[in-house]
Amino acid sequence: MVSNEQVSNADIVAADAAHVFHSWSAQDKIAPLPVAGGEGSTFWDFEGNRYLDFTSQLVNLNLGHQHPKLVESIQKQAGQLATIAPAFANDVRSELAKLIVEGAGSEHFSHVFFTNGGADANENAVRLARLHTGRRKVMSMYRSYHGATSTAISLTGDPRRWPNEPSDNSVIHFFGPYTYRSVFYAQDEGQECERALAHLEHQIQMEGPETIAAIIIETVVGTNGILVPPPGYLPGVRALCDKYGILYIADEVMAGFGRCGKLFAFQNFNVVPDMISFAKGVNSGYVPLGGVVMSHAIRETFGERTFPGGLTYSGHPLACAPGVATFEVFEEEGILEHVRRLGEQVVKPWLDELASTHPNVGEVRGLGMFWAIELVKDKSTREPLVPFNPSPEENAPMAALVAACKKRGLWPFTHFNRMHIVPPLNITEEELRRGLGIIEEAMAEVFG
Ligand code: PLP
Repeated sequence: MVSNEQVSNADIVAADAAHVFHSWSAQDKIAPLPVAGGEGSTFWDFEGNRYLDFTSQLVNLNLGHQHPKLVESIQKQAGQLATIAPAFANDVRSELAKLIVEGAGSEHFSHVFFTNGGADANENAVRLARLHTGRRKVMSMYRSYHGATSTAISLTGDPRRWPNEPSDNSVIHFFGPYTYRSVFYAQDEGQECERALAHLEHQIQMEGPETIAAIIIETVVGTNGILVPPPGYLPGVRALCDKYGILYIADEVMAGFGRCGKLFAFQNFNVVPDMISFAKGVNSGYVPLGGVVMSHAIRETFGERTFPGGLTYSGHPLACAPGVATFEVFEEEGILEHVRRLGEQVVKPWLDELASTHPNVGEVRGLGMFWAIELVKDKSTREPLVPFNPSPEENAPMAALVAACKKRGLWPFTHFNRMHIVPPLNITEEELRRGLGIIEEAMAEVFG
């Protein structure tokens, strides 16, 4: 092991390039930033360059880097029992399951099946749904990401699915509400909601309701646009599920654990799903962890009948300990109130101002600490600044914006023609305002 002073960024990059194979990348075309450390909403490289993290890494680092309570919980658990197989009972695992079920806030829920992350949470939610209903098909939105394993990448509607097809051929995609770019020619949110529900019902009928096990929806669509559902949409989906005996799975991998100002995002929308998949913010990703919260009825299906699924690390104590600590920190530090306050009083007014004054800002939207700036070439035509699924050449204006932010010490999250504002939930007001100021300066540099 070498200390930070002895190595340069170049050493770390060379060591990485030698043997590390990276996700979602052409291996010769990437230049990963070497990260030496982090604290709170900031991380730094091996040469002292510091970045304000407006991405929460992959929108998982909800309590920031190196939160002392989370780190301590892992250290303590490592000293007590570093691992134990899922077949045994374990105190910290049971405690976390109890906190999550109680936090889901409805008598409807009873048990948690723990996984290693979000994709396998969705895989297992679908497995549970298929076995519980005896039906095979699953419906998901085109504008969605549900993970990169076999069924999860099939559920994914976005272009990451295309090179992985065919995989699970029992997945049907549909259009969710997106008023700004309505495929239903809707003029307002109310129309969009009504027409999106009518479209979904037609599709259910055409597929054969008795063949459909579940509908899975990101409560607030994350990477594909921070699409906040219009009031009434999710209750409408719930009603369709009830009408046709279909299970409703809420994918809360990104939107959950405080990101939208409530423990679970669905708690903002007057609806209760049958299953909740979660990961990321459950323990800020300090140790990989995900899971599925299920209703009593689904749990009861597997009272006498064996559940045919499992993972060596299901409910790993080193992952559950920071999960329990996360609940304590949320309580002690008033995280949910903080998120709602900063979202409503700092980010929203700033974004609204930007949308009304900047010629390239088509729409801004979001809630909690989950916001998007949709960039356009022209406000009146709404033509996106870069096209859907852009080539690297087409993406040049967004790449310039990213570079302008990084130069000023801000690490931004962009996807297609959007910049997302998704910092850690415990970011301070001063850091948040500083980051927004940097985005403003970067936009001035790029757009003139
Ligand atoms: N579901 C959603 C909504 C996600 O955003 C992600 C990851 O970004 C996943 C599922 C997959 O999670 P993981 O990468 O932990 O497998």
